[in-house]
Amino acid sequence: CATLSTTMEEVKPAFDADEAAILVNGLRKTFNSGKTKSYEWRISQLESISKMVDEKEKEIIKALHEDLSKPELEAYLSEILMVKSSCTLALKELKQWMMPKKAETSLATYPSSAEIVSEPLGVVLIISTWNFPFSLSLDPVIGAIAAGNAVVLKPSEIAPATSSLLSRLIGEYMDQSAVIVVEGAVAETSALLEQKWDKIFFTGGARVGRIVMAAAAKNLTPVTLELGGKCPAIVDSNVNLQIASRRIVAGKWVCNNGQACIGVDYIITAKEFAPKLIEALVSAVEEIFGKDPMESKERSRIINSFHFSRLIKLLDEDKVSEKIVFGGQRDGSQLQIAPTILLDVPEDSLIMQEEIFGPLLPIITVERLEDSFAMINRKSKPLAAYLFSDDEQMKREFVHNVYAGGMAINDTILQVTVPSLPFGGVGESGMGSYHGKFSFDAFSHKKAVLYRSFAGESPTRYPPYTPGKQKQI
Ligand code: NAD
Repeated sequence: CATLSTTMEEVKPAFDADEAAILVNGLRKTFNSGKTKSYEWRISQLESISKMVDEKEKEIIKALHEDLSKPELEAYLSEILMVKSSCTLALKELKQWMMPKKAETSLATYPSSAEIVSEPLGVVLIISTWNFPFSLSLDPVIGAIAAGNAVVLKPSEIAPATSSLLSRLIGEYMDQSAVIVVEGAVAETSALLEQKWDKIFFTGGARVGRIVMAAAAKNLTPVTLELGGKCPAIVDSNVNLQIASRRIVAGKWVCNNGQACIGVDYIITAKEFAPKLIEALVSAVEEIFGKDPMESKERSRIINSFHFSRLIKLLDEDKVSEKIVFGGQRDGSQLQIAPTILLDVPEDSLIMQEEIFGPLLPIITVERLEDSFAMINRKSKPLAAYLFSDDEQMKREFVHNVYAGGMAINDTILQVTVPSLPFGGVGESGMGSYHGKFSFDAFSHKKAVLYRSFAGESPTRYPPYTPGKQKQI
């Protein structure tokens, strides 16, 4: 049963399409009053988020531990700090972001001036996911508020502790006539999707992304889809192997135990280099998680038994399980699977067809590393692609030839922490982007405004189109 973190009188606890309509109406009234458009309101709400995160840090870490057994420092770095940095940047830059931007004019409009005005879209819906349930919920909310919108956030039911905490805290800290959390699963999200929104921002898988986009199409509602995919990492033989291996371990097993949309999904390397790479990866795993990684408390667990079974199915598939060269241990009672490396699994196996989203790492070998570009491009465009190489030509060719939402060279994941880079997918990995100013833009309409005076009136534009006028053109 859904709950609403609101004191708006009309909204009752049970949540269906009728309740959703009432909710959206209430928010639309707020938006139409102009309240959310003011610089002061936006700043006050961003400050409230900042205060909430500062004051409730322990509760946030506890909820993340409950949902994913996220280690404290990891929770701080990948969830709390992400939200804090986004908030700080928005607070610092908002005036600048809101300012109309001067634009060039054309000869036809002489004399004139022009500007691009960022205007809020209206009432927006943000649907979030479970793997970074705090930051991936609040980061888009920050963008939506900065841009002056009224917001409904629907966190993921699969991370119930964080969802319920977000509902409670947003009810406590934010303007409840304009920022609302609706908790729930498919039924509640479907009820929300039946409403007319001015923007839907969705983070999740491509299957539900299609449902969201189809619902949005009915009202010509724009969407941002932050989806996933199979993110490859190419490893050249000329790398600093110790550093490269640590960074791959960070991008595979440290970061939410592989349950990350930009985590390394699979590796491609040269056949003769694979044994050295595997050896280095194993030693990096042991350095970071100890000799028995199953005993380590430094890795999040698999989110639930459904995803645990899904991963075991990938691992135990015929012609795949025999390819395990490291790891493979599992413990259903703890929802843990050891960091696992597989060598040269068949290309048509499930593990190479589906997004893994867990601690399994297939390594595919090729004769020539350049062949890996075509191999990546044969699959759907991933959210991220990684290259480890010391060869400048190789780096240029990778950037030029591999299609992906974003990239990092000689590292993993960290591109997400650069607010001046747009974060988003392409093709099956999504559409649109956010982070930093891109978040503000994702929730704004860029209104074109032309200013003219009554000077410079030209009769040429009006009929009758005499030969004399034609000559003037
Ligand atoms: P999901 O698509 O199953 O769920 C996402 C949201 O959609 C949840 O809030 C859920 O309640 C809702 N939902 C589920 N089924 C629905 C339905 N039938 N109708 C309406 N709403 C529905 O995805 P997930 O399991 O939460 O997340 C995993 C996926 O998300 C992976 O593919 C991952 O790569 C991707 N992801 C992307 C990013 C990114 O920033 N691009 C970040 C994290 C995760």
